[in-house]
Amino acid sequence: MYPDSINRLHIRKNNGLYRDRIMLDGSQGVNVSIAEQDYLSFCSNDYLGLASHPELIEAACEGARQYGVGAGASHMIIGHHAAHHNLEEMLADFTGFPGALLFSSGYMANAGVISALVGRGDEIYSDKLNHASLNDAAIISHAKWVRYPHLDLGALENQLSTSQAKCKLVITDAVFSMDGDIAPAAELLILCEKYDAWLLLDDAHGFGVIGNEGRGIVSYYSLSSPRIIYMATLGKAAGVSGAFVAGQKVVIETLIQYARSYIYTTAMPPLLAHTLLKSLVLIKKERWRRKKLMQLTKYFKKNLKLSRWKLLPSETPIQPIIIGDNREALQIRNELEYRGILVPAIRPPTVPKNSARLRISLSVAHSIKDIECLVTALRELE
Ligand SMILES: *Cc1c(COP(=O)(O)O)cnc(C)c1O
Repeated sequence: MYPDSINRLHIRKNNGLYRDRIMLDGSQGVNVSIAEQDYLSFCSNDYLGLASHPELIEAACEGARQYGVGAGASHMIIGHHAAHHNLEEMLADFTGFPGALLFSSGYMANAGVISALVGRGDEIYSDKLNHASLNDAAIISHAKWVRYPHLDLGALENQLSTSQAKCKLVITDAVFSMDGDIAPAAELLILCEKYDAWLLLDDAHGFGVIGNEGRGIVSYYSLSSPRIIYMATLGKAAGVSGAFVAGQKVVIETLIQYARSYIYTTAMPPLLAHTLLKSLVLIKKERWRRKKLMQLTKYFKKNLKLSRWKLLPSETPIQPIIIGDNREALQIRNELEYRGILVPAIRPPTVPKNSARLRISLSVAHSIKDIECLVTALRELE
């Protein structure tokens, strides 16, 4: 395996597909420091600017004093603390579902919820541009996995209408992580009702950002149905770490009994759950964060005039510019870095072939001046 592995690494490098990590000296934010140099960053998913918010740092310290730093065990043994419990209740209430269950990450939540609900003989229908964690979860569930072209409700209906499976699950990113567009969840729900399927919405990028008070996709479309299983992450707009699944009580009970990524892992440190309680308060209360974020997004879209590259039609803070070629995307990314601006070049297999892109993500912590700076640099480089 080892010599072959070296070959694989070479091929990846030669194709402009090698992934490199950046190492931050200090905390996350729109101004970051790397090797003692300052950069303006458009990379993080910290949309609401909460990842290093002083009140959350204080809540984390308070949580550590109250609960210590480690959960000590899995939820099922003795790792389930009052902070986890309170956060679950608050998340269920906030998102409008009867119950919620915390996971250590979104990747684990998807793995857990999908394989707990479907298995051999069942069928999963998923959008082609879904996040990798949903795809991996579909594979490990052993259910039959059917993909439909991005947002193609007609294709999905064809597939559902000919299905013989007893249990069908439609899964989709609510806000697509690399495209920024919003899934037509209301229409998806109608199809699920018509063909007796469940609907799993992965709202990693919508929670805290869209909907009334940041309640996410369900509020955005005013949806309500026992068929919906809602999942969102807590390391993006919420600024901390972790994820949760919300749904009917029987779904939550099923997850506690059968979701392997919930059962066989140490619980999230309770100090993080304690911090997230504060984060939820800020998400709800500080409406100006979403308002400013939307203003910045509109400003960026209005002022960026591209001729050769293409800005995807997204209304969310995820604003991808399609470059196409992997090496060119990487080169532009490097040119921007040289100018003191960080933007990730997202390449296959994260996105489809020939759609390498700059994934610009805006944060409430950006200023109009920051956006002007980015727009000017992009104009010069195009
Ligand atoms: C980030 C992301 C995840 C994974 O969440 P983590 O908490 O980072 O593991 C899942 N789904 C989508 C759509 C994501 O963007």
